[in-house]
Amino acid sequence: MKSNWNNTEAKKIKGDLLKLRVYSSNVLGRDEDLVMHGGGNTSVKIKETNIFGEEEEILYVKGSGWSLDTIKAEGFAPVKMSALKKLVKLPELSDIDMVKYQRMAMTNPNAPNPSVETILHGLIPYTFVDHTHADAVVVITNSPNGKKRIQEIYGKNMLIIPYVMPGFILAKTIYEMTQGIDWDSLDGMILMNHGVFTFDHDAKKAYEKMIDIVDKAEKYLKKQGAKAIKGAKKGKVDTLRLATIRQQVSNVWGKPVLSKLDNAAASVAFSNLSDVKKITNRGPLTPDHIIRTKRTPVVFGKDSQKDLDKYVQEYIAYFDKYNKGEQLLDQAPRWAVLPNTGTLSFGPSPKHLTIIEDIARHTKKAIHQAEHLGGWKALSKPDLFEMEYWSLEQAKLAKAGKPKAMAGKIAIVTGAASGIGKACVESLVAQGAVVAAFDIDNKINSCFPQKEVLGVKCDVTNSKQMEKAIEQTVAHFGGIDMLISNAGIFPKSAKIADMDAKNWQRSMDINVTSHQQLLQLCVPYLELGFDPAVVFIVSKNVPAPGPGASAYSVAKAGLTQLGRIAAMELGEKGIRVNMMHPNAVFDTGIWTKEVLESRAKHYGMTVEEYKTNNILKTEITSHDVADLAIAMLGKTFGKITGAQVPIDGGNERVI
Ligand code: ZN
Repeated sequence: MKSNWNNTEAKKIKGDLLKLRVYSSNVLGRDEDLVMHGGGNTSVKIKETNIFGEEEEILYVKGSGWSLDTIKAEGFAPVKMSALKKLVKLPELSDIDMVKYQRMAMTNPNAPNPSVETILHGLIPYTFVDHTHADAVVVITNSPNGKKRIQEIYGKNMLIIPYVMPGFILAKTIYEMTQGIDWDSLDGMILMNHGVFTFDHDAKKAYEKMIDIVDKAEKYLKKQGAKAIKGAKKGKVDTLRLATIRQQVSNVWGKPVLSKLDNAAASVAFSNLSDVKKITNRGPLTPDHIIRTKRTPVVFGKDSQKDLDKYVQEYIAYFDKYNKGEQLLDQAPRWAVLPNTGTLSFGPSPKHLTIIEDIARHTKKAIHQAEHLGGWKALSKPDLFEMEYWSLEQAKLAKAGKPKAMAGKIAIVTGAASGIGKACVESLVAQGAVVAAFDIDNKINSCFPQKEVLGVKCDVTNSKQMEKAIEQTVAHFGGIDMLISNAGIFPKSAKIADMDAKNWQRSMDINVTSHQQLLQLCVPYLELGFDPAVVFIVSKNVPAPGPGASAYSVAKAGLTQLGRIAAMELGEKGIRVNMMHPNAVFDTGIWTKEVLESRAKHYGMTVEEYKTNNILKTEITSHDVADLAIAMLGKTFGKITGAQVPIDGGNERVI
């Protein structure tokens, strides 16, 4: 492990202890091998003068809910040291009282709740205290003879703390163990099955002590031959199986969730291990991971439903054995091993998936390394249970708030790089859904930077490309619940007598045939989806065609007929199919300036008149169309299929 300390950066903020604390926390947080997603914590002790002119020592400690890689000054909670020094001397302290008295000792009521390790940070008599859950150190503590190995590596100047629950009990244990100790003789503290503490009056020294300790652990692992797993080649992925698994896991969870395949080389190799079931059944990397990943993943065999049922039974048995009046949580696994394919993570949003995937990746590496030291030895089940059901840990999850209407649902939108398609993607994401956004335009790869959108460049008329795009969607999100089939073109106006055969055929290919092919490819996945629904974006030209637009209108009429028949065929599978007929939506790719002027001229109007040429004298925007599409996919249209709804501001020929 290398130091990432940048003297030039650090020098710029010299003198400001809190800014230095922010800087060194960010440097620690950026190394995934040290901490991940809210793991670890840091603090700094600063002398301040309060409003009464009294000098106070304040502990600025990481606030709950902040991650070290992104923490800012306001993420640190200022707590009076005088209170912490009294708290640690109490014979016992409940979680509720600990949270209450720590908050009462804060000098800024708007700051976040201080970390559960605040009292511990307070008792360490140094300005800077750094705490990480470094992989390499935890791998060694989580292997047979872990303590002996740690002693062998670090000698007598390392304080080794047996595992106890984080929070007051840990602080109290360390307080008692360090009475009369010469802190200056210590290089740091290793907490068995948990992590490392380093401390110094200098920020850089505290950081570099951490790097040094972790570096020694990494070198030890290397010497023991505990190498990272050698990658294996990806095989063919059965995406229908992935969608089936996602449906089954969602059913256990009680709501639709996403599922993401990790088939990077190391992940495939891990899934290929002959003893993968045995080695993944022992527990997580660090105890705090359990609220994200549960105690173990599920390892799928041939019958995933049977494996899930067994996982649930075992989870309930584990709960029944250790609970002391807690409420049973959902029993769905958070990650899975799919032999010869890779690993899967499950969660209600891409943010959850990233957390679980990152933790699972480090866990897989650690388990594999520990096998070289004689076998992965996680914490005992009762200790892990206590952590999983610890109210202070569960409180972290509760912060997420109420889920949105389409949370955990997956949509495909075609023609998504502009106009109606783009507006539909934005509206779906706003409702909590994730979207695979398909478009032939290169800009689809960059126009949606958010994690909720997977941009895929593909040609709707190329069935091979579409098949690949759909498989990519299912591997990335887990399945398909909703389809907005929107891609279309407006061919050059021409009378039937003057029709160019190529233009005619191109309109048929894009405006009707591609929709049929896409629906055909999606049906097996929609059948496994949650409240599956399809919307065809058609056209007012269907009920009210215009001369010169036969290539367009005939194809769109065909698309309408396709939607009507699809509604009849797919209804018994619970899939709804509805159509909408927008008119004169001018903020779309189809309506180039030339087309707009030519159509306006055709009707003898100005462009402005043409834009609001409807009964309500209103302009229809792509977002108006998107709102209707979202309603058609949602609960409002839950009992409607085969419907055609105009969205045109009112048109006499349509009414
Ligand atoms: Zn910790």
